[in-house]
Order: sequence, then structure tokens, then C-alpha cells
Amino acid sequence: MNQIYTYGNYLKNKFGCKVYKVGINISGFTCPNIDGTVAKGGCTFCENDSFSASTNEIKDLKGFHLNLDSKENPFLEQQLKQLELQFESISKRQADEYNAEKFLVYFQSFTNTYAPFSTLKALYDKALSFDNVVGLSIGTRSDSITDETLDYLAKLNKDKEIWIEFGIQSVYDKTLDKINRGHSSDNVKEWIIKSKEKGLHVCGHLIFGLPDETKEMMLETSKQAYSWGIDSVKYHPLYVVKRTSLGNDFIKCDFTPISEEDYLDVLVKSIEMKPEGMSVQRVTAGINDESLLSPDWCRDKNIQIKNINKALKPIGLKY
Ligand code: SF4
Repeated sequence: MNQIYTYGNYLKNKFGCKVYKVGINISGFTCPNIDGTVAKGGCTFCENDSFSASTNEIKDLKGFHLNLDSKENPFLEQQLKQLELQFESISKRQADEYNAEKFLVYFQSFTNTYAPFSTLKALYDKALSFDNVVGLSIGTRSDSITDETLDYLAKLNKDKEIWIEFGIQSVYDKTLDKINRGHSSDNVKEWIIKSKEKGLHVCGHLIFGLPDETKEMMLETSKQAYSWGIDSVKYHPLYVVKRTSLGNDFIKCDFTPISEEDYLDVLVKSIEMKPEGMSVQRVTAGINDESLLSPDWCRDKNIQIKNINKALKPIGLKY
């Protein structure tokens, strides 16, 4: 049985030691799909509130949010301190519990290029100044990154390892409309190709089980995303949580989540089609608390992984 080429394998090969991603959540960041710039309410599956709980929330923020046109950022010093505190505590735990030796700072929550360049530069530079940090991974939307930011990241990428993570989700605009995504598939394609041309490392996020999509459509999304040259991929099933628009659709019986059987089928076929050198960062997702409405199979990560390995066995792979 061969192991799937995971992101952990990629990092180990490249840096010769255990490299962990340190997920960071900076207060004051939001998303143009939430603040009304592109749309209001966000993607139909996104529980916007769940991002705001940070371990060291900035107290006086009072609803202050950055965007690309923000003229000033009175909270920058506090954001830099917040970054430092989060990094120290998470990286220490990863070193103690998992023997992590080096780190990638992962700007994870909301849209992490959606702020004035001066703020982004200060945060990225600070993150790269921490001990044993080999690079950054920046989660964002393709409609929220400027050429100035992309050029700066490309410059940083000369000495460090810089990743951008784009939510692709689906290549079908009618699906993107249904989930209130607020940008087209062509827009994602354009910025992924641009990022690759500048030498940056790109991870694409895909979701299987989006409203009204067939398995053929999900596989077409994988195929096209691979053809755009992404270096790494995260596969997610669409699960439904409370306090979301998708949750309301589910309660009204207007949305049926993907079955585990169908998810495994699409996942295995997508992995089979994947170019050899493309690493896999995630094969599933879920949540094990009261917020999960459906499907129940997304509750237990260990069982999910066990079933994924069972499904991969016939093609000689394990995760
Ligand atoms: S782009 Fe991300 S943060 Fe923004 S609404 Fe969609 S899922 Fe939520």
C-alpha cells in the first residue's frame, strides 16, 4: 500500500524535518462577501461568527473591520502583538506534543489579503521574523488580492516558502451563484494562474456535495483545478451547520447533503486523477459539536479517515 503524497511529506522532503502550520486568526479582518462589498451574509455554508472567537481577542475593536480601501488601521500594533502571542502558544504546543521543528504561519480565518497593503506587509514581515518560521500560507479569495500584494509575496518567496490558498469550491458559476460565493470561476482561474506565473505556491480548496451538483460535475471541478497548476489540494465534503443560510435550506428540505458513499467515490476518483507531484493537505472535514445539522457521518474524523482508507485500498493507496 502506498501512502498518498501528503503536504506533510512535501514539507519533510523540502525542509528535512517536521514542519507544522500554525493557524492564526487576526481580529479586524473580514471578507468582502460578509461586509457587503461583494455580497452580504457570506457563502451560504459559512458560519461567519465562528471565526471571531480568537484566544486573545482585541478588546476595543468594537466592530472595526479592514478592507482594501481602509485609510488607517489604529489596531495594527495590537494585531501584531496578537499574531505574536498566538504564534508563541500554538507553535510551543506543536513542538511539545508533535516534535514540530519548523513552522509555516497560516493566516487562516476570513480573507487574509483583504486589508491595506501596509497592514498586510507588517503582519507578513512580523510572521516571517519569528524563530524557525520557514514561510507563510495565506488563505484568501481570488477577488480580494491586489497586484501589489501578489508582487510582494512573490518577492518574499525568493527566500521563504510562500503559499496562497484559494477557495475554488466549484468550476460551475451556477453553483457559485447558489452558494452566494460572489465571484466567478474564471476569476479564481485567473488569479491562480497569475500566482503561479509569479512563482508562488498555490493550494486549491474544493468542495464536494454543493447544491444540485452531480458527481460528474465534482470530478470536472477537480480536473479543471488540477489543470490550472495548483501545487496542493484540500478536499472537503459540504456539511451543514446551524445559523447559516444553508442550514435554513436544509431545515426546509431544500438541500440534501452528499452521502458518505458518494463522497468517497468522488474523492477516490479525484485522488486517482491528481498529478503525481501535487500534495494533499486535507481529505475530509467535519465538526463534532452541537452546531452540526447534517450529515452525521461528518461528525467523527477518525471514522471518516478509516472509511477513506477502506475506499482507497482497492487502488493501492492509504492516507
Ligand atoms: S469567502 Fe470564506 S470567510 Fe467569506 S463568506 Fe465565504 S467561506 Fe466565509
